[in-house]
Amino acid sequence: MEKSPHVMLSGAGADLFSREQGLEQADPDWFALPERRRQLEEMKRMGADWFDVDMKYGTVGAVALDTSGHVAAATSTGGITGKRWGRIGDSPIIGAGTYADDRAGAVSATGSGEYFIREAAAHEICARIRLLGQAAKAAADAVIAEVGKLGGTGGVIFVSRSGEAGWSFNSSGMYRGRASAAGTQVGIYGDE
Ligand code: ASP
Repeated sequence: MEKSPHVMLSGAGADLFSREQGLEQADPDWFALPERRRQLEEMKRMGADWFDVDMKYGTVGAVALDTSGHVAAATSTGGITGKRWGRIGDSPIIGAGTYADDRAGAVSATGSGEYFIREAAAHEICARIRLLGQAAKAAADAVIAEVGKLGGTGGVIFVSRSGEAGWSFNSSGMYRGRASAAGTQVGIYGDE
């Protein structure tokens, strides 16, 4: 954000830039876990479709509002198991899986990225807050319902510029937490 005029870099160019900036490097093997390899082998053996409806997503996201009223969103992902080489999900696409706008709020998503991209989900939530004056929870619920109508599953965490922090999801659960001056809260399943 501060060391280049660009908004988005990918692949080899992004790797080169990170090396030039002196960021710690890790070999791709470092990210390989025996359990994830086992799941991939099982998927291949079963000849399963590339999209597994029982898939547990592994994306990690964070949203924040600072004391000056600025919002930020971050999303880190390994994508989905069995994806095609070169597939890009929603997480790095600004407006789809990640978005922050001081006029509305910040959103980070997890789920079947193809549907969050189609819906431009994170931006759509911010647009509802900004243009319709919706509360963040109502905006997030409406957009997750639309993602669901397209066939997508997953959820979002959000914080609005007014400090309304929360989540919305249509999966059976989503690991989540919230911290504010009022205290902290964590949850996994839908009814917590
Ligand atoms: N949204 C991610 C993707 O589609 C997957 C996830 O949330 O775990 O790449």
